[in-house]
Amino acid sequence: MISNPRSHIMGEFRGTEHGPTVVIISGIHGNEPAGVMALEEICREIREGDMEIKGSLYALRGNLEALRQGKRFIDEDLNRIWRKERIEMLFGSKTLNNEERAMKELLDILRTIFKKSSPPYYFIDLHSTSGDTHPFITINDALINRNFARLYQLPIILGIEEYLSGPLLNYLNLEGWLSMGLEVGQHHAPVSLKNAVSLIWMTLVFTGLLNLSQCADFKAHRIRISASAGGLRGFYEIFYRERISAGDQFKMVPGFRNFDPVAAETLLANRNGKEIISHRRGILFMPLYQAQGEDGFFLVRDIPAWILQLSVLTRKIRSKEILALLPGICITGQDHADLWVTAKTFKRMGKPIFHLLGYRCTLMESGDYRMTNREFRAKSIAYSGAPWKNGLLK
Ligand SMILES: [Zn+2]
Repeated sequence: MISNPRSHIMGEFRGTEHGPTVVIISGIHGNEPAGVMALEEICREIREGDMEIKGSLYALRGNLEALRQGKRFIDEDLNRIWRKERIEMLFGSKTLNNEERAMKELLDILRTIFKKSSPPYYFIDLHSTSGDTHPFITINDALINRNFARLYQLPIILGIEEYLSGPLLNYLNLEGWLSMGLEVGQHHAPVSLKNAVSLIWMTLVFTGLLNLSQCADFKAHRIRISASAGGLRGFYEIFYRERISAGDQFKMVPGFRNFDPVAAETLLANRNGKEIISHRRGILFMPLYQAQGEDGFFLVRDIPAWILQLSVLTRKIRSKEILALLPGICITGQDHADLWVTAKTFKRMGKPIFHLLGYRCTLMESGDYRMTNREFRAKSIAYSGAPWKNGLLK
């Protein structure tokens, strides 16, 4: 049971020694109790065990009213509104809906954390899914995120930012700090709570907030997570999203599990009485088995190791300036960090080449594309003293 969630802050711990600032957020979706309960349990253990930490730890709850009601959200999805224009609007508006109020309160807390604590910052967002799943990780594609996420030895999904508008992690990533979504399992499965507890302890050790010797069960946590992953690991990329519009009657065919392989011409779901058949083969990702949500399912494919290695090398070249020399491409954005690519040039070059160079593509209303590269903003240097490197503990 979640104790009455009156406050966003469930724990704030500061060590005497210098170290990282770790911010763990749970319950951004109110029907996902496992992360909240796990975080409560760990705060209690740190408090009662009087554990000495290095740096600072903040444990947060996201959508308080939705958590009280056990709903994904009340007025709109709190994980789809972290966009610049919505944030600017918050401070001029007198009437805010439930999620706008929650975002404003969380922004205030995040700003205070930035003032009070020092880098390197780690933002971990805990979630669970409506369908049965192995635990997995979602990240924006920056090398610091990739290298940290590899420590967990779980499947890692890249590029979700191309398909979802306004998740909290995007907002934090644009600030350049390491941020990662941890999906712990199915919403109410008992194993999800256990996974969440293990993943949080692992996070505290990986970030250097705790020493290995302070986490007596570290090995057991790693074994549990490896077993839960069911042999899945490595990087996956989304190539298809089945979007649900307001008023649609969407129903997945029962029995699918997250990461189930899907053959071409498989019947996956039903929308407004019409069958949805996948015409391509792939791996099913996040099938929707609940009433609220904008995404019916995604299809992903694994990314070959050679592409990942090549993409590490291509991040080192000044691709933005080189690409901007081509017809149909120019540098854009307030901080000159993005590229504007005409529809014609995008079609001619193809999405994979932009992905390889570290860009994620957003289709604009004009039909052109805006390319965002997380690498340009990543504050990688802040993590040079971290206890991990290239996916391994030092
Ligand atoms: Zn969620």
